[in-house]
Amino acid sequence: MPAKKNKTSTRTLKTTAPSSDTSVQKIKFSKDDEPNFYKCPCCSTGYKKLDGNFPASQSELHAGWDYHLPICRKCLDKLFEHYTTVYGGDEDMAIRRICEKFDMYYCESLLSASRKVNKNRSRIATYISKVNLIQYKDKTYDTTLDEERGVIIESREQAEEDGISITKAAMDRWGVGIFSEDDYALLEEHYKMLKKANPNCDSNQEIFVKSLCHLNLLMMKSLKNSDLDGYAKANSEYGKTFTKAGLKTVQETDKNADDCWGIFMEQISQYTPEEYYKDKKMYEDFEGIRGQFERFVLRPLKNILLKTNQRDEEFNVEDSVDE
Ligand SMILES: [Zn+2]
Repeated sequence: MPAKKNKTSTRTLKTTAPSSDTSVQKIKFSKDDEPNFYKCPCCSTGYKKLDGNFPASQSELHAGWDYHLPICRKCLDKLFEHYTTVYGGDEDMAIRRICEKFDMYYCESLLSASRKVNKNRSRIATYISKVNLIQYKDKTYDTTLDEERGVIIESREQAEEDGISITKAAMDRWGVGIFSEDDYALLEEHYKMLKKANPNCDSNQEIFVKSLCHLNLLMMKSLKNSDLDGYAKANSEYGKTFTKAGLKTVQETDKNADDCWGIFMEQISQYTPEEYYKDKKMYEDFEGIRGQFERFVLRPLKNILLKTNQRDEEFNVEDSVDE
């Protein structure tokens, strides 16, 4: 099932839609060639006029029909009913499928706007009337795909032109030509989180921090595409890189802790645990050598030299027990 995205674009998308800038030019409809009637390619019914009988369209594919869909309103209603049944009563999915079929713009905010249906108009007819409002001019299913794919920012100029707000620092950090607007946001968010937890990382660690941001982006993308394998690989690589970099995840809440010493302290604590300094008895005779020496060397030696009869505490049986 294709991903739904609740997002309305305000920018001019030029990736796939025909426009004056692309090789696929906008096709002009010549009124001179207008026929006396229009036959619905689906049901063969002839109509004298396009308006009122064929729904409006924004697609260049329908320019020759004065921007009308090549299906009459009655057939479209039947098609909508068909897809609603096919998708188990999911009208939204039925609308998406029809948008895909007839190169219409699909967006979630329009779905909710088309929910109030009156008796004379079907849900799909209401949706189409909304999708042809002036604010959705020139938007087609190409626009939907571009929005869902995320347009790659090729240059600073393009970002400015399209009104995309990506800071100069972010573009310097991540470069252009690889990431979309959403990617930059994800990268920056993760970068800020890591830098907040590790404010004094050196230039070496800075390289690791950037790699971690890339890996986090990969994880998010795999998650979005339900790519478990890709997610697991990125996740494992993230863990390795994180350990290699010697970074911290959460900032210390202890006000006395000096952050620039954080990593240094962690390395020391691997070999000399902090608990030792608090409670010296904790690691006293940790391997039990002193105990063994006292039991099996010192005790018998004392007995020989001093002619005493000190017994081993563990194996000693009191005389009273025998009686
Ligand atoms: Zn028809």
